[in-house]
Amino acid sequence: MHRKLVAANWKMHGSNALTATLLGALDAQPPACEVAVFPPFPYLARAVHLARGAVGIGAQDLSAHAQGAYTGEVSGAMLYEIGARWVLVGHSERRQYHHENDALIAAKLQRAMECGLTPVLCVGETLDERERGITESVIATQMQAPLHLLGERFAGVVMAYEPVWAIGTGRTASAAQAQAVHAFMRSQLAARDAKLSRLIRLLYGGSVKAANAPELFAQPDIDGGLVGGASLLAEEFLAICAAAH
Ligand code: PEP
Repeated sequence: MHRKLVAANWKMHGSNALTATLLGALDAQPPACEVAVFPPFPYLARAVHLARGAVGIGAQDLSAHAQGAYTGEVSGAMLYEIGARWVLVGHSERRQYHHENDALIAAKLQRAMECGLTPVLCVGETLDERERGITESVIATQMQAPLHLLGERFAGVVMAYEPVWAIGTGRTASAAQAQAVHAFMRSQLAARDAKLSRLIRLLYGGSVKAANAPELFAQPDIDGGLVGGASLLAEEFLAICAAAH
């Protein structure tokens, strides 16, 4: 059994005030599960300060490059220096709006690990892909380049299954649908290395709320959640964390 992990993806939401409110709520009622919070870049340092080490802080993206003339990008070393220890890689919104492909995502994963950050690799199918019955092949393809590049170092990655049709839509995968894909992901890992499949934590993401978290987190292959919208509401997020215990 893994220790459950609940991750909060604030996306492009927040302010100094909201950072203080949400981190303050976690400080006042520390959850029993592991928690990682992913604010937008400008609030990272403040979040690290407010979290006081009790909650992990991470960025929503990093550059695949170590440093250089890449205007607008942020390096893994910079994130580590300001105290971030986590980073999201390959979120579907980055795949969709920034055309990130599996090779770039694999390079970002590698860079994150070189910089001492724990990456959360997001994978997931679109509605069209689910309806065409190709969910498993889409997930297998998304896992292939990172597994190939990282080899046994992939054990340091956390994975999040986030069906694109469930993100921000209020439409959650049923616990059985989510469990089926998680079991498939574990079987893909086991096909490479049984130890890898036991070590890696697999989170579910897609309209997780306090109401559906208990059933999702009770599934044998779901080790926690990646929470978007509901992570911006302190009470709701704390209730999700409580469901992970
Ligand atoms: C996400 O952005 O990773 C996510 C799961 O969002 P939401 O919970 O809002 O669907």
